[in-house]
Parts: sequence; structure tokens; C-alpha cells
Amino acid sequence: MAEVVVFVDHADGAVRKPTLELLTLARRLGDPVAVAVGAGAAATAGVLAEHGAVKVLTHEAAEYADYLVVPKVDALQAAVAAVSPVVVLVSSSAEGKEVAARLALRIGSGVITDAVDVEAGEQGPVATQSVFAAGFTTESRVSKGVAVITVKPNSAAVEAAAAASTVEELAVTFSEQATGTKVTARTPRESTGRPELTEAAVVVSGGRGVGGAESFAVIEALADSLGAAVGASRAAVDAGWYPHTAQVGQTGKSVSPQLYIASGISGAIQHRAGMQTSKTIVAVNKDAEAPIFDLVDYGVVGDLFDVVPQLTEEIKTRKG
Ligand code: FAD
Repeated sequence: MAEVVVFVDHADGAVRKPTLELLTLARRLGDPVAVAVGAGAAATAGVLAEHGAVKVLTHEAAEYADYLVVPKVDALQAAVAAVSPVVVLVSSSAEGKEVAARLALRIGSGVITDAVDVEAGEQGPVATQSVFAAGFTTESRVSKGVAVITVKPNSAAVEAAAAASTVEELAVTFSEQATGTKVTARTPRESTGRPELTEAAVVVSGGRGVGGAESFAVIEALADSLGAAVGASRAAVDAGWYPHTAQVGQTGKSVSPQLYIASGISGAIQHRAGMQTSKTIVAVNKDAEAPIFDLVDYGVVGDLFDVVPQLTEEIKTRKG
């Protein structure tokens, strides 16, 4: 069976959920070979095998943490040379997309970014993308070289599928460029205790209708009742009510959760561009004509300060 390289995103051996989603997609296309690099890479092997990796290639070296992405590109290139896969799957984070683009250039392949689905095709894997502010859905495939595809988080369900897996040390020779850009300092992001916005299964967002920074507590309370991440429209972010890192949309983050709840957000095309691929969309807006209602699965016409706290209480009650 054809082999499919999956580049593993992990933090000191803890595999991030988008990588497990990639393994679900990889199993449709062939035998998943996971490539894990950096500190804790060897510790990822168990979880990867439980999710279908038939082989785990690991390489631990200080370069992965001390320099920007090039050492990772070197490792992935070495894996492609060792395995000869039909496709390389990478998670669509900012770093993942940079790694994918650099790899594709190195190996003379085409690259497809921000896929929301990948299926086997007669002439190679076919990637589905949601493009032009989510106005069109396209299917495309790489016509030259080994396909390199980045996939958005939450595009597939995580499915356990234990495989008899082998773990091998990957031989990596770092290129001259690998040590060109050194990381000189790191500032840990302040933890909100909530999931990462782009990876969250549930996102609760607030817009201009929230009316102020303090009122975002209403949005946060709903998010916390659901274990969700908090998002915001650009209007709310530009007003200084919520951090820019929470902006969802064309010039913010792209999210694709199982559930997206928009409160006090009109549904401008630039906002939709960042959330339209969410599986279930719920909106609360006091204007029945708001464009957001054109794309929702469930809509509530009402004042968010009436509706959202009731929803939060009901969820808490049902969760006991
Ligand atoms: P509004 O459009 O003002 O909508 C507020 C909504 O809240 C209204 O529908 C109103 O009925 C409702 N409301 C008010 N009070 C209540 C209440 N008490 N209860 C319930 N509902 C209430 N926007 C983004 O979000 N993300 C982007 O990445 C982004 N990128 C952009 C890039 C460009 C180049 C441009 C030009 C614009 C971009 N925008 C982006 C801005 C976008 O066009 C909209 O201006 C913005 O999304 C509007 O935010 P909003 O829906 O919160 O505000």
C-alpha cells in the first residue's frame, strides 16, 4: 500500500489533536508514516500507533528548538527521501504552512494549503478547499511531484485505529540554511485556560453587539460552560474589547470547529471567511435581517444579554 507521511505537531511529546485528525485522513490514502522531531519526539510513538501510524520516524536534536523552521524542513525532506510517499500531510498552522511550502519547493512538488478534506483519487489525492472568502468550494490535486497538503484543524474526526507500529530513528543532515535564523528568546503566551482558537471543537464569538470589554464576560461564561475557545469579530477587536489574537475572519484566524456560536456579529463577508466551514453554526442577533442568519443552522433573534446567559445556565444545568 502507498505510504503517506504525516508531520507530527507536538509539544514535548504531547501530540496535538490536529495531528491525530491528519492520521484519520492519512488512513484513507494509504499507510501513515508519522515523522516526529524535536524534544520528546520518541514519546509520541505510542499515541501515533494507537491512531494508525504503521511507522514512526523520530529525530531529536536541539536545532529544532533553537532555530526557525528550516531544520524541520530538512527532517521532512529526509523522510520523503526514505519513504517515497504519495502525499505529505501537514497541519495548517502558520508554521505548518511554512514548512509545507519550503518542502514542496525543495522536492519540486506542488503544494495545497488549508484543505478541509482529502480523499483518494485515481491520479492522486484530491484536496477540498473553501476559497474566495468561503464563496466557493474547490477540489484540486497536485499534478507534479509528491503532493504536499496542509489540512485545517477540525477537518476530520479523531479515530483510534491501533496499528502494529515500528519506531525508527530518522537520519537527518541539517542544511547550511538550517542554522541561519536563531531563536534568541521566547515569551510564553499568557494562558487563558481555554483551548487554542484554531484547534477548538467549539468556538463562542462576540462582535460589536457585545458593546464593551467588560460585557465579553457574557461570551466567556458561555464559552467556559462548553469548554470552548473565545473568538471575536474585527469590530470588537478594533474597539479594544478583546485581543487581536482572538479575531476570526479574513484578516484574523480561520476556524473550523464542530460548533460556532456568534453573538452580536452581523456576518460580514470578511468574518464569514474565517468561520464558514464550521460544522454547525448558531447565531444570536437582535436584527432578524442580519446577514449571519443566511448561513446559520440555528438562529435566535433576540438581545444577546437575554439569550446568552440563559443558554449558559441551561448548559450548566444539563451538565449537572
Ligand atoms: P457589526 O457589523 O456592527 O454588527 C454588529 C451586530 O450586532 C449587528 O448585526 C447588530 O444587530 C447586532 N447587535 C447589536 N446589539 C446586539 C445585542 N444586544 N444583542 C444581539 N445582537 C446585537 N471582520 C472580521 O470579523 N474579521 C476579519 O478578519 C475582518 N477582516 C476584514 C478585512 C478587510 C479588508 C475589511 C475591509 C474588513 C474586515 N472585517 C473583518 C470587517 C468586516 O467588514 C465587518 O466590519 C466586521 O466583521 C463587523 O463586525 P461585527 O459583526 O461585530 O459588527
